Amino acid sequence: MTSLHDQNSVTSASASPASIARGVLSLPYSNVDDVFVDGAWTPAIGTDRNPVTDPATGEVWGSVPDGSAEDIDAAVASARRAFAGEWPRLTPTERAGYLLRIADEVEKRATEISLTNTRENGSPVAESSGAAANAAGILRYFASLAGYLEHEDVRAFPRGGGESIVRRDPVGVCALIAPWNFPINLVVSKLAPALLAGCTVVIKPASPTPLSIRLIVDAVAAAGVPAGVVNLITGSGRLGDVLVRHPDVDKVAFTGSTPVGRRIAAASGELLRPVTLELGGKSSAIVLPDADLDAMSSVLIRSCMRNTGQTCYISTRILAPASRYDEVVDMVTATIAAGPQGDPLDQATVFGPTATESQFRTVLDYVESGRAEGARPTTGGRAASLAGGLERGFFVEPTVFADVEPWMRISREEIFGPVLSVLKYADVDEAIALANNTEFGLGGVVFSGDESAAFAVADRMDTGSVGINFFASNHAAPFGGRHDSGLGTEYGIEGLNAYLTYKSIHRRK
Ligand code: NAP
Ligand code: MG
Repeated sequence: MTSLHDQNSVTSASASPASIARGVLSLPYSNVDDVFVDGAWTPAIGTDRNPVTDPATGEVWGSVPDGSAEDIDAAVASARRAFAGEWPRLTPTERAGYLLRIADEVEKRATEISLTNTRENGSPVAESSGAAANAAGILRYFASLAGYLEHEDVRAFPRGGGESIVRRDPVGVCALIAPWNFPINLVVSKLAPALLAGCTVVIKPASPTPLSIRLIVDAVAAAGVPAGVVNLITGSGRLGDVLVRHPDVDKVAFTGSTPVGRRIAAASGELLRPVTLELGGKSSAIVLPDADLDAMSSVLIRSCMRNTGQTCYISTRILAPASRYDEVVDMVTATIAAGPQGDPLDQATVFGPTATESQFRTVLDYVESGRAEGARPTTGGRAASLAGGLERGFFVEPTVFADVEPWMRISREEIFGPVLSVLKYADVDEAIALANNTEFGLGGVVFSGDESAAFAVADRMDTGSVGINFFASNHAAPFGGRHDSGLGTEYGIEGLNAYLTYKSIHRRK
């Protein structure tokens, strides 16, 4: 059910040929004027539109409604009606049956999901072709927790004389707000536990990636989920704010940047509305002196620069022992320089473009700041167009900086692009102090030939998740950030609990 394979398989689900010409791509959705409310695709009420841009070419290839407050009202009302209906009253096993059917329907749409996702955000198809299988794995994992919800939880009063029945009720209408970097996974990781719990939802995807998620909604509809349980509105961040503050929303689940997360937390605090926030990161890979650098090279991109550096948990600060600093810099440089960058529709591509023009500019600004503050680029370091070959689109060369000091911006701030920093440490205590000296606390890796030594270091890292000699998240284990990386967790029973509210019914005995 849940396995590393689910999370890591990036090639299994796709039937994509080696390279696909854009002209012959026929994707199910490009220019659309509808949103999903009350179980049907219906024209949006608002008449404004947002473009959908291919970051590999800069070309606008689609458009969607930039919904209005009236669209949010309609979607929340639809979710509210569904919450008053049969959905929360089904047994968890019955709802799990729907999750399993959705998983099958998602897998049938794997190729369309992959290609739409890649055209929206430039994730290489080698990455996006795993999106449907990953989503199906999440749905099947949460379906497996039906028994946990059904189990009657009876707790005696410690002093005797009575007992309490602990009910786990769905929290209600949930707003699910996602970023653009993994537009399928970061919705389904919320949708699956919400549906199993008996909640109803309104989804607001990120502006750059409004189309691929429609295929998940189609899968929900094909699985026969009752009308109104799942609603989708597209639109800008302004619309996200309307949804977060809507009087009839009971819970907000958000993945995105720390600044937007703070705003949502403030609004939710005022409203006393439960909120889950999965935010930014600046994680470290600690290379212990006995690390096998060949083995590290084979997982480096996955752990430290996945999805062209646009992954929240990746370890973009590599902490190397002074005794092997040059060796580590050479290995990291050679590994990153060897990853082919190019058309994300090409199966062989490892690094695509950054997802948006604004992200492209942000990443180049960080590269400039690294140089200005005295760090030394060992590969990359400019817009790929300057190297020739990738004249269009938002490509930044995958970049490695050596001689990075902890005070530099590239060492402290989340870049969210293909830029790695290699720092030097004197001893293990200093490595751990460097890793923990950050406002974030999301991921991390320890590389070592001695698993128990690595485990001891992992234990001392102030972070929500850490891997030993690799990184992958596990649908069955909590995933969440400490400090500025967020509030609460997704995945695991802990992730399901975020969609529940408890009621204790006391009785004498
Ligand atoms: P973002 O700018 O924070 O946007 C995330 C979502 O929130 C988008 O749908 C956005 O809509 C919406 N939004 C913007 N302003 C809002 C507001 N005031 N109220 C409610 N919603 C609002 O993040 P992003 O640029 O899409 O994604 C990159 C960030 O996501 C990075 O910081 C990354 O670390 C983080 N991330 C975290 C995790 C994790 O699990 N911890 C995973 C992946 C990514 P628009 O797109 O229309 O602006
Ligand atoms: Mg943004």
